[in-house]
Amino acid sequence: MDPIQSTKDICSIVLTFDDGPNPETTPKLLDFLNENDIKVIFFVIGRNLITKQGSSIIRRAHVDGHIIGNHTFSHINLMRLSKPQIRDEIFRAHELICQYTETCVLFRPPFGVTNKAISQVLAELGYSQLFWNVDTMDWKYKKNAYWIDYGMKKINHYGNNIILMHDIYPTTVGNIRYFIERIKSIPNICFSIVEYQE
Ligand SMILES: [Zn+2]
Repeated sequence: MDPIQSTKDICSIVLTFDDGPNPETTPKLLDFLNENDIKVIFFVIGRNLITKQGSSIIRRAHVDGHIIGNHTFSHINLMRLSKPQIRDEIFRAHELICQYTETCVLFRPPFGVTNKAISQVLAELGYSQLFWNVDTMDWKYKKNAYWIDYGMKKINHYGNNIILMHDIYPTTVGNIRYFIERIKSIPNICFSIVEYQE
């Protein structure tokens, strides 16, 4: 056996960014990811794709090799809606996203909440739900980029980590390089979205 071979043979970090695209911050994040050859999953809000800026950012993200997931049209809590309303929220975003991507099959519900009606609509539309198991709380712990320390504490060095961040905050995008450096210091860890690609 190769002595340098890791006992862990899977890439265990999946970076996910919700609630974008944002014309100020998302392009900067895309630049950083390109420079570092890291592919991520963006869960975008449909209404952000109506503008020319928003749609061109998402087209670029797709061309760059990232996965674009559906995060509803208006980021409403779907638990409060009827089944036809749920379908409308998901399908409106679906139509916008699928103009720019070949596959549109990943969905993340706003606030991470789901129920039977939501699951049924998603099954009808051919979507699977992807949640997270590492919440950086980047929307809350902005001061001194504390979200990085917070996220690092939650990362399991020996398991799969689906990390939740938001590309709409300057404190997230502006400090992402420090988070990535810290993650890279964990032995035998790597970034991959391959298992979610069709
Ligand atoms: Zn969200």
